[in-house]
Amino acid sequence: MAKCSICGRPAIYVSRASGLAFCEKHFLEYFSRKVRRTMRKYRMFGPREHIVVAVSGGKDSMSLLHFLHNLSKRVPGWRVTALLIDEGIKGYREYTIKRFFRFVEENNIDYKIVGFREEIGYTLDEIVKMGRERGLPYLPCTYCGVFRRYLLNKAAREMGGTVVATGHNLDDIVQTYLMNIIGNDWAKIVRLGPVSGPSHHPKFVRKVKPFYEVLEKETTIYAIIHGLYDGFEECPYAPLSIRWNIRKMINQLEERSPGAKYSLLRSLETAIDILRKHGIGEEEQLYTCAICGEPSAHPICRACQLKLELGILRLSEERIRSLPEKARRMVEAAIRRGEKR
Ligand SMILES: [Zn+2]
Ligand SMILES: [Zn+2]
Repeated sequence: MAKCSICGRPAIYVSRASGLAFCEKHFLEYFSRKVRRTMRKYRMFGPREHIVVAVSGGKDSMSLLHFLHNLSKRVPGWRVTALLIDEGIKGYREYTIKRFFRFVEENNIDYKIVGFREEIGYTLDEIVKMGRERGLPYLPCTYCGVFRRYLLNKAAREMGGTVVATGHNLDDIVQTYLMNIIGNDWAKIVRLGPVSGPSHHPKFVRKVKPFYEVLEKETTIYAIIHGLYDGFEECPYAPLSIRWNIRKMINQLEERSPGAKYSLLRSLETAIDILRKHGIGEEEQLYTCAICGEPSAHPICRACQLKLELGILRLSEERIRSLPEKARRMVEAAIRRGEKR
């Protein structure tokens, strides 16, 4: 059995990339040092912040809430609250919500829950079904991602948040990086940095990823140590996503050449630098959606576009005619996509 590189006690974690092993105590020190270093390096938080932690109830976001809540006890200018988005996924979300409630109540953390059904009009399960009936080409993760990001920004702003922290770990980020390389979507790659922005839209709340340099394996161990993970985790829609395959591929790669995930992260940072120099991705969040008034990368935001395609949102002829040219054309195209079978 491996021994802790620091104290020689039995190790609970071996980092193959660095060759270091840690016992529980020294793993937690290593983890905390690493996250705090990331937060400093990318200037994620100022001395006075209302940090809204975006929580799904899964191990990564619960670990992040636990970590920031504890850290905030030592930073007088910080307030940490939690925002849970309930997509309405049967047989999955009910369990993670229970874990979330237990934690926020035990720790006296203010929170808000925002549901797809209340805000969008339908649960994700219903939306997926509607999309299939209309013959739309999207995977469940597309609807979920678009509506979740939309509600996250809106709700965090309404809560008075100055910054939103999400639980994305290194694995999530390099998976998305590869997915966007395959999709040839370089503007999205620019947005994969540890801090989103700079955005000057007054309705946009800055997003940060404190676990940017932490492996999924490490957030899992952190969650297990703190009783935030009991093994039941996987979203039923996950195997349908392209991410599922990419994740498997990267894990096999890491198995063969330890450190591959870190290399991919460094590659992403280089790519972001080069793309920024070419002005790619700069138009992000520059628009205000002509329908809902939320910040958007397009004249009509992705959430409103999807709602139009699904028939959830209907606009009168008059309203459509009154829209600015570019926005009107986007609305008409979205309605057409929804009609096509
Ligand atoms: Zn030790
Ligand atoms: Zn909109």
